[in-house]
Amino acid sequence: MTATRTSQTPPLEPIASDELGGSFRGELLLPTSPGYDTARRVWNGAIDRHPACIARCTGLADVVAAVRFARERDLEIAVRGGGHNVAGTAVCDDGVVIDLSAMRAEWVDPAGRTAWVQGGALWGDVDHETQAHGLATTGGIVGHTGVAGLTLGGGLGFLMRKHGLTIDNLLAAEVVTAEGSIVRASADEHPDLFWALRGGGGNFGVVTSFRFALHPVGPTVMAGPVFWAADDTADVLRLYRDFAAEAPDELGSVIRLGTVPPLAVIPADLHWRPAIAVACCYAGSVEDGERAVAALRRFGTPLVDLLAPAPYAAFQGGLDATVLHGWHYYWKATNLAGLSDDAIAVIADHAYAASSPRSYAAMFHMGGAVARVPHDSTAYAGRDVAHNIIIDAVWLPDESGEHAAAETAWARRFLQALQPHRAGGVYVNFLDSDDDSSRVREAYGDRIYRRLAEVKARYDPDNVFHHNKNIQPSSYRRPA
Ligand SMILES: Cc1cc2nc3c(=O)[nH]c(=O)nc-3n(C[C@H](O)[C@H](O)[C@H](O)COP(=O)(O)OP(=O)(O)OC[C@H]3O[C@@H](n4cnc5c(N)ncnc54)[C@H](O)[C@@H]3O)c2cc1C
Repeated sequence: MTATRTSQTPPLEPIASDELGGSFRGELLLPTSPGYDTARRVWNGAIDRHPACIARCTGLADVVAAVRFARERDLEIAVRGGGHNVAGTAVCDDGVVIDLSAMRAEWVDPAGRTAWVQGGALWGDVDHETQAHGLATTGGIVGHTGVAGLTLGGGLGFLMRKHGLTIDNLLAAEVVTAEGSIVRASADEHPDLFWALRGGGGNFGVVTSFRFALHPVGPTVMAGPVFWAADDTADVLRLYRDFAAEAPDELGSVIRLGTVPPLAVIPADLHWRPAIAVACCYAGSVEDGERAVAALRRFGTPLVDLLAPAPYAAFQGGLDATVLHGWHYYWKATNLAGLSDDAIAVIADHAYAASSPRSYAAMFHMGGAVARVPHDSTAYAGRDVAHNIIIDAVWLPDESGEHAAAETAWARRFLQALQPHRAGGVYVNFLDSDDDSSRVREAYGDRIYRRLAEVKARYDPDNVFHHNKNIQPSSYRRPA
């Protein structure tokens, strides 16, 4: 039976309050509850779903209660960590959202250089707590992104070339399975589950906490972006191709092609000008970092050079205001075979053709420690890729309609033009809602997908957790 929503009589109201009431200490938000409309919103304002019930958990026991409750009633389940997935998989229509947004605590063991992080934490939370000890692990490049979804898909960030993907730093996870049981996954406990959690997304259970390895980082690092005018894009990308190929592992970099964001640290006369930026973060001494970025800063005539010694945690939050909650987003992404002159020409031709000044493309430089981890030791498939690109169409809530159609068409055209330059694969966390199951397979490749499907059949044979980039259990097909 699947619950259906009516605005007058929320079907779960009496049931959820009674049955969850005893075993659930968190907040239960029903369509009539104050706060429901805020709680059902995710980062992408284009997502507008109405769950029958949002179970805002306070801890592991609440997650167990919520999973069991939803299963007993055969309700759809969506799991929410940071709520950032562009496809809006953290929220469903009609069913139960298992919402971990109140579970954001961290416990750092500075001597052992590890941290336990709850499943609803954001990267800004983790950087804040770990940097108090001069430590960090690879996290996303925007502070308000969720730890859980990012980690379970792989985890790209400025530290990855030195310290590996986020999953390469994952030591253990506490998981509530589809049965409502509690298991610990690590190299020694449920190693098959541990393998699958490192790249396979939210398919295998609800992760209530993660244990990460930490590394000394900063607290002051050489970091920041350098901007050049959009007309210089091809030249900057050719320089960057060689710069990146020779970069030490300590140097993480991300290219951003779009306009200069209107941030207070940037002179106002540059705001919204079409521009390419190379953002760097050097995971080593400031002096070594200065040397590592020197060639980049000397190149051409930058519009503005913000590379400077900076607190790592502050740098990590520097982009937060450029991708606000509630704006509307649509993404297209692919791994790139390399930055050939032809690929650069395509990027330069398309990157500035969006109509919204908020739309942009970002390109992550991979390699380093990411590529050295044995490829079958985790479920992440893109380890031998040099770059991957995400095309991010953005428009404001009151610009829906024609404007939205133009931005999404731009993103699709851009991806299409990159077709000859694509490497196999795509990062699963960059897939949007119109990326179908064939793109999920593309993200993993056949061999990893098959192995994930076998683990799925062991831990979630009924595909209870399917509101995600879904791995179908090997022996099961959910009715359409
Ligand atoms: C502004 C922005 C910046 C980004 N930057 C980066 C980046 O630098 N590097 C990078 O790798 N990715 C980045 N991403 C992509 C990011 O990895 C995904 O959007 C990811 O899904 C975000 O995780 P979340 O917890 O916020 O997601 P949610 O939307 O909360 O969840 C997404 C899915 O993850 C699963 N999930 C969430 N929480 C849990 C849990 N506790 N247990 C089990 N499953 C769970 C569920 O299947 C859920 O549907 C960025 C995204 C945005 C919007």
